[in-house]
Amino acid sequence: MNTYLKDKSVRHPRAGRFLVTLSAVALLLGACHRQEPVRLAGEAQGTYYSIQYFDPEQRNLQPQIDSLLQAFDRSASLWVDSSLLRRINDGQTDTLDDILSFLLQNSLRIMDYTDSAFDIRVGRLVQTWGFSFKQRSEPDSTTLAALLRAAHSPVGYANGRFFRHNPDTELDFNAIAQGYASDLVARLLDGYGIDSYLVDIGGEVISRGLKPDGKPWRVGIERPAEDRYSEPVVQTAITLTDASVVTSGSYRKYYEKGGVRYSHTIDPATGRPVQHSLLSVSVVEDQCWLADAMCTAYMVMGLDSAQRFIAAHPDGPGTAAVYFIYDSCGTLKEYGTKEFMNLVAEQ
Ligand code: ADP
Ligand code: MG
Repeated sequence: MNTYLKDKSVRHPRAGRFLVTLSAVALLLGACHRQEPVRLAGEAQGTYYSIQYFDPEQRNLQPQIDSLLQAFDRSASLWVDSSLLRRINDGQTDTLDDILSFLLQNSLRIMDYTDSAFDIRVGRLVQTWGFSFKQRSEPDSTTLAALLRAAHSPVGYANGRFFRHNPDTELDFNAIAQGYASDLVARLLDGYGIDSYLVDIGGEVISRGLKPDGKPWRVGIERPAEDRYSEPVVQTAITLTDASVVTSGSYRKYYEKGGVRYSHTIDPATGRPVQHSLLSVSVVEDQCWLADAMCTAYMVMGLDSAQRFIAAHPDGPGTAAVYFIYDSCGTLKEYGTKEFMNLVAEQ
């Protein structure tokens, strides 16, 4: 704008036109430049993250994002040796920080809501079956009974302190933590005044606003793969505006022993890895932690119970926009609620 005002002072009409044209080109180039998103990639919580945002100033917010995610891991990760969660599980402290207070409080709500299909008390079961940092082994019936007693024993909090009735009850927030980390990164971007972004932490995705060309963000939902090494193929794509989508699947995270595939999702009722025809669940919600927790709950319920749950809670959290991919006699089938199917983008 300043350049244009200065240009007006140029007397020669043709020179003026030339300068005006130049500044118009510069403006156009500037606009094109601003259309490019800032793209960041890195690692957190033992998985990848990929973040895109549109910022006229093209600020690099990776240092801020990395330090947020590192602080998050020091609190809620089970992979970081001295994380607060590891120390709480080991009985070294019972003082919760803000992150663990949020996760515990909301996990207890979802445990109640899903009748413990989602249940953070599976810590030791997950370790025993081998999806965490320890060795994998199938527990014998006596061990399983003891693990179940610990996993069914009450836990809670009061005045910022965690309590458990059974010292063997260990917490595992892995089914909700990545979603919450995505929420916190989104909040950080909001704080910098960024109003168009897509945050993806290990498949827990959150979007804000429209892209500068006025189009919504699109997110692909992966087709369940034959095995963990298969190249990802998109099953369907949805448009996502000011919302989160999370997909949980049993097809990538599992281990095989004696020809049996063990999912990394534990049924808290039996203490065993879930085994059913449901291959993946996607949930769209405002908050990413909620979508994350509900995906895990549906994976535990299985297709029929999950559909009954959705019908029984029409206005409940995490039931409006849900999408299932399941196996029916060797054929891949899909079912999406009406609200989810309305988001399916035209190919
Ligand atoms: P993903 O999105 O990677 O498929 P989830 O969000 O479903 O994963 O989280 C799976 C992790 O949550 C497991 O690796 C385990 O640590 C923990 N977990 C397993 N079963 C349950 C359960 N029933 N409720 C809550 N957390 C669980
Ligand atoms: Mg989850």
